[in-house]
Amino acid sequence: MIIYIDGEFLEEKDAKISVLDHGYLYGDGVFEGIRTYDNRVFKLDEHLHRLYDSAKAILLQVPLSFDELKKATVETCRRNACANGYIRLVVSRGAGSLGLGPDRCPKASVVIIAANIELYPEKYYREGLKVITGGTRRLSWNAFSPTVKSLNYLNNIMAKVEGMRAGAQETLMLNEQGLVAECSGDNIFAIKKNKITTPPIWAGALAGITRDVVMKLSAEMGLPVEETNMTRYDLYVADEIFLTGTGAEVVPVVDLDSRVIGDGKPGPITRKITERYHAITRSEGTPIG
Ligand code: PMP
Repeated sequence: MIIYIDGEFLEEKDAKISVLDHGYLYGDGVFEGIRTYDNRVFKLDEHLHRLYDSAKAILLQVPLSFDELKKATVETCRRNACANGYIRLVVSRGAGSLGLGPDRCPKASVVIIAANIELYPEKYYREGLKVITGGTRRLSWNAFSPTVKSLNYLNNIMAKVEGMRAGAQETLMLNEQGLVAECSGDNIFAIKKNKITTPPIWAGALAGITRDVVMKLSAEMGLPVEETNMTRYDLYVADEIFLTGTGAEVVPVVDLDSRVIGDGKPGPITRKITERYHAITRSEGTPIG
């Protein structure tokens, strides 16, 4: 595997960053997870815009222009022949002396890894996921913006662990008010009587790129998604629930907190949305070359 670090393409064994990088010491940095399909990078511009927005929010200067970063990302895919894979793009605060102040780090570091990922085994797309509500609340806006895709993912990791320990594949996260925010690594949608709803970003959801794509294609199908505050009750009584994410794509949920969703099988609208989503991933994207 060839890894991009700060302008260089290095063999994996030589791809090293400093232990004094504040990304490592303090989780100070931002990242993106991006997919490639059929030798094209899916929604690359959208992911890069979100990365620059996350960086801006934490006062982190990305040391490359948008076009330079785009070129480096595509080139990393090309050098790894990453036709159908996953890209991890990380911008960390860079190496500096100990202490929280970012001013100790003269230059941010950029790392790009293009590899493979399998999030959920095929069986879950056919049969649906079991999800539980975790006790870990989604980050409060009063503490740190939950829309920043930062290197400090412990809030989500602790929620994920709760689900894993309970034998669930994902964990639902509520916000401080007890309203539905999202899952530990995916956005959530519910369908009731042909009406699709999803929590708004201000409820604590990440502005998911897949969420955006699904909202657009649902509108094209004549089923516009309503962004609205949701409670667990709204989910329990839904006809269908599905999650979205770059890695997970569109995945059905058939069990939430031991409530069977719909008839306990992935529903027809979820199936249609999944098909359309697959079609889009296979017809759009920045060519890798
Ligand atoms: N929420 C969280 C907390 C995430 O980490 C992610 C990304 N895995 C998502 C939602 C989905 O976002 P996207 O569709 O941009 O991958």
